[in-house]
Amino acid sequence: MIDHAAISGTILLVDDIEENIRTVLGILDCYDIIPCTSGAEALEILTEEHIDLILLDVMMPEMNGYQVCEKVRANPELKEIPIIFLTARQDEDSIEKAYDVGAHDYVTKPFLPRELKARVEFQLKFYFTLKKLEYIASHDQMTGIFNRRRFFEIAKEMFNENPRDSMYTIMLDIDHFKRINDKYGHALGDIALKEVTSAIASVLPQGACFARLGGEEFAIAINGQNNDEINILAENIRSNVERTPIVGEGVSFNCSISMGVCQNDITFGNIDELLNSADQALYEAKDSGRNRSIFRGSGTHQKA
Ligand SMILES: [Mg+2]
Repeated sequence: MIDHAAISGTILLVDDIEENIRTVLGILDCYDIIPCTSGAEALEILTEEHIDLILLDVMMPEMNGYQVCEKVRANPELKEIPIIFLTARQDEDSIEKAYDVGAHDYVTKPFLPRELKARVEFQLKFYFTLKKLEYIASHDQMTGIFNRRRFFEIAKEMFNENPRDSMYTIMLDIDHFKRINDKYGHALGDIALKEVTSAIASVLPQGACFARLGGEEFAIAINGQNNDEINILAENIRSNVERTPIVGEGVSFNCSISMGVCQNDITFGNIDELLNSADQALYEAKDSGRNRSIFRGSGTHQKA
């Protein structure tokens, strides 16, 4: 027996025949279902509502189910949503076409209620598991921000897709982090990592990619700023971290960070070279006394 109460999700149900909609609503009464009667309406709802699964009729006037499916698969925001086709057609060509355009499953009319329920349940479970695995693979468990792997993916895309001098990277780490761990213990060291993460995240503009690369080392990739704005941002980050108390049982202290800020330019062949330059600037910030940022603008880079 399937525990139907265990899985919830919002389902978009698309069928041009109202009676079919009533039948499915009756069978899947434990789900939150948004019904509609045309492909155009379905595509509009998909831009407005969070949908976890689409039940899609094949034969509809104007835009058929295959066409709707192709449009969903072509949209980067929607392409992962599972789609189950609902159809009276049982010939092999129709079934093959459904999978060719990107269906996850295929249910024939008239519906067998338990079969429909089981197929919906399976697709939702599979989709939620996949999303959970994707989250784990791309986020740092301790701080909840992106991990090293995801940072390099996003930063590489930003490097390749934007005008060179509008992209900046910041490499930063917590000053004397080893001393914090030695003096207060690793539990408070972990609190420091989380507090510093929040202090930085709270001043970052939307669209900035912020990640923990490992240990006490973080990186930021950001677009669409100018030199003045990036230096103001770096100072906001520095001062916000400096005034954020790290509080444990019976102790409270403050920590600081050092930063290397680097503007992209044509001398960098790839994202690794840009990050290396930011890393060199970070070392310079450490060497010159910590709790500061060192900026390297376009045209001032020395190659390693
Ligand atoms: Mg129809």
